[in-house]
Formats: sequence, C-alpha cells, structure tokens
Amino acid sequence: MATIAIEGGSPVRATMLAYARQIIDDDDRRAVDEVLRGDWLTTGPMVKAFEEAISAYTTAPHAVAVNTGTAALHAAVWAAGIRADDEVIVPAISFVASANCVLYMGAKPVFADLSADTLNIDPEDIERKITSKTKAIIAVDFAGHPADHDAISAIAKKHGLVTISDAAHSLGGRYKGRKVGTLQDLTALSFHPVKQVTTGEGGMILTADETMSRRMRSFRHHGIDLDVHQRSKSQSWQYDVNTLGYNYRIPDINCALGLSQLSKLDRWLERREQIAQTYKTAFAQLPQLQLPTVRDDVSSAWHLYVIRLAPGRLTASRDKIFEALRAENIGVNVHYIPIPWLSHYASLGYTRGNWPVAEDAHSRMISLPMFPGMSDTDVHDVIAAVTKVVNHYSA
Ligand SMILES: *Cc1c(COP(=O)(O)O)cnc(C)c1O
Repeated sequence: MATIAIEGGSPVRATMLAYARQIIDDDDRRAVDEVLRGDWLTTGPMVKAFEEAISAYTTAPHAVAVNTGTAALHAAVWAAGIRADDEVIVPAISFVASANCVLYMGAKPVFADLSADTLNIDPEDIERKITSKTKAIIAVDFAGHPADHDAISAIAKKHGLVTISDAAHSLGGRYKGRKVGTLQDLTALSFHPVKQVTTGEGGMILTADETMSRRMRSFRHHGIDLDVHQRSKSQSWQYDVNTLGYNYRIPDINCALGLSQLSKLDRWLERREQIAQTYKTAFAQLPQLQLPTVRDDVSSAWHLYVIRLAPGRLTASRDKIFEALRAENIGVNVHYIPIPWLSHYASLGYTRGNWPVAEDAHSRMISLPMFPGMSDTDVHDVIAAVTKVVNHYSA
C-alpha cells in the first residue's frame, strides 16, 4: 500500500483541490460587461430580470433580490413578524447565518436536533421545542437535500407558526415533485460563489404572499414606501419611511451574472448528481464510511457531499483523517460546527450536549470536494485519497 502523504509519501495530487468553486465562462463575462457599459449599475432592469428568472425557475410567485443570503434571511424573519423575545426553531447544525438572523430581531433561536439520515432538522424535535413563545421555524435543506417540508408545514399549521426555508444549499432541488422555493411561507436563497449559482454576493427571498414581498422590497431599501412616489405624480421627490429598513440592494452587475449563471444550473445539477453517484459506487467498498442518504421522495441539489466516519472502524480521529486528506491535497472541510457551540452563542447561555444526533454527526463528518467544475480526474483523485487514507487507518 502506498505511504500516505502525511507520513512522508507523495500526495495523490500536486495541487490543492478546493471543496467548492464557481464556474465563470465567457457568457458570464459578457453579461457583466454589458451592464458596466450601460446606465444602471444598481436598482435597474437586471434586478427585475433576475428576480423574474428565479421566480420562473422555482415557480415561486414573488421574488425579492437582496445583496447576500444573510440579508435574505434577515428580510424573511422580519417579514415573518419576528419580534424581541419571540422564539424561532432552527437546526443545531447549519451555517451561522441561519440563526444569526433570529438574533438580529432580538429574538431567541431555539435549536432542534437533526434526523440521523439526512442531517436535516428533525420534525419530532421541533414539536418538543415548541413553547407559547414560538413564532417560526427555519428549516435548512442541509447539503442540498430538502428538509422534511410536509412534516414541518403540518407542525407549523397546528401551532400557527410561520415557516422559513433556508434554501442556501438547495436551489434546483425537489421535494415530492415540488420545487425548492415553493415549499414554505418564505424561502431564502444565497448566491455566494460556493452555492448553486453565484452573483459574487447575493440572495433572494421567494414567497407566494404578495404583501410580504412588497414589504420586503421596502425593507431592502431603507424602509422607503415606494408607493408614495407612484401616488404623487406632481411631486416626484415625495417619499416616506414607515418602517426601519436597510440598504440590502443588489447591484445590476451581480444580477446580470446571476441571470447568465442560471441558464447553466440544470446542467450543473446533473454534474453534481453524477459526481455523487461516482462517489457512492466507489465508497461502497469502504465500510469505514457512512455515506449521505437521499430519501425516496426528494432530489438533492448536492451542494455538499458529507461523509461520516463509521464508529469503531478507524484507528484515527476525524481531525487526523481530515489532516491526512489535506496532506493528499484534497480540500476537505467540515460543515458545520454546531451553532450553539460558537462562542457568541455560548455567551448567550447555550451549552453543549443537548443535541445528540447533531453533535455526534459533527464529530464524525467530513465534506469532500463537490462542485460541477470538477474534472473526472479530480473526482478520481478524491476517491484515491480517501481510499488510501481510510485503508491506512482502518481498525
Ligand atoms: C451560505 C449560507 C447562508 C448565507 O448566505 P450568504 O450569501 O453567504 O450571506 C445562509 N444559510 C446557509 C445554510 C448557507 O449555507
């Protein structure tokens, strides 16, 4: 067996393979260049065009573009009417923005544990965490696999809660034949470079609720009531601010990029699926690994490919195996540290040990590279490195 790189052997590949990376082509560059030559750098026609394109793609009736996915979540919790001292149920493992948005409102994130198969928020634990203060549920489609949306909706209906889908990972995914973006009251998307399509930075909120969409348009623009300007034809300088908003506007430059990217999304989703299948076939030989599961009624957008190390089958810790894979020049990652473990959350009084599934999964998880621009050689390098390292540390 070849010596592993961390013990002095030669690495599987010469250069580091990232865990995720955008694809930018000539069409994207032309689209951005056209905006740069035009009149509108921001608040122009590309914003509307991008909103309409995402709305058409997802079949969500209303789409409001903003300048980050985090701003999209902030707008969503605001539109949901979350106020100080309300409680919002959030999965214990996600990117920190999924919970930070609740703190922005002065409200309290209440962390629910995960389902062991998908690592999505566990509907049974949601139900256990509901109190008289609970106002909303934020469900994250972890790694691109849609959460158990019907179960979540049923709980929300029973208790009169608003539902927010954090779909930063799952644009293009489906749940029981329905598209991500239509599954909950509000859906937040992110267009960060590691996500399904990128605008550099950007986000969007999708909803079927016309009133909420109009309020979020005002929220992203300082709380300015746009209708005043339209009503007052003689006094075009008129405007009013009737709520506290922010400047969360996204530039036309970004939206032109997003629009161009969107035309390639379906092809990229197919490539992600292909990579997932190749990994699945190759790693079926390795009982030391627990592979991601896909439930029968969903199609995953495969944002991440998260493996877990099988308990008792390896002689090295997750951290050691992580380091060994990095030494092979495979850019592995860990998604994510449980949010209540983070220092800011600890300072708010959250303590470890309350989310057994999430905390166990965290201790065993590694994200392997997964992005549509990976070549077949890249995919095989990952398989070779994982096989080499896992066999080396096999118990
Ligand atoms: C990326 C991400 C966000 C935030 O998106 P930004 O565009 O980076 O602000 C929110 N939630 C999840 C789950 C994410 O992965």
